[in-house]
Amino acid sequence: MTSDEIHRHLESLEQLWGTPGLAEEVKVRPSTRMYRSLGNYSPKRDEIRIAAHLLETGGREFFLEVLGHEAAHAAIRRLYGNRVQPHGREWKALMRKAGLPPRATLDVPEGVARFVAEKRAQRRRRPRTLWGTIRAYYGRGWT
Ligand SMILES: [Zn+2]
Repeated sequence: MTSDEIHRHLESLEQLWGTPGLAEEVKVRPSTRMYRSLGNYSPKRDEIRIAAHLLETGGREFFLEVLGHEAAHAAIRRLYGNRVQPHGREWKALMRKAGLPPRATLDVPEGVARFVAEKRAQRRRRPRTLWGTIRAYYGRGWT
């Protein structure tokens, strides 16, 4: 999915949800260093970050669910500020409207789970920082 397609997708969500500015203002940034989570939305930066491997490992439909999930956070902020719960009734209503499952926890496709597990294992095998090396040597009870 190109950034143009992502932009057009946000435009259609903006129309559907009645949240002017959603497509123009919210930045979507793929992250190649994101493994712990698959996506997040920063209200401070008005920015969605999405794990870059998702399109390959999870397929288009799953990618769109993650994008829609985070875009709904950006939309909720526009509609209600921070007066409502992140995954509350209002957020669920937007998800349903977009034809997406209104769940906070995703059913992670097997390909994604395998990729993430492998990446985490690699990180454990090769600590990059000095602190990582010390911690790996002395074990976990040291922080
Ligand atoms: Zn969320």
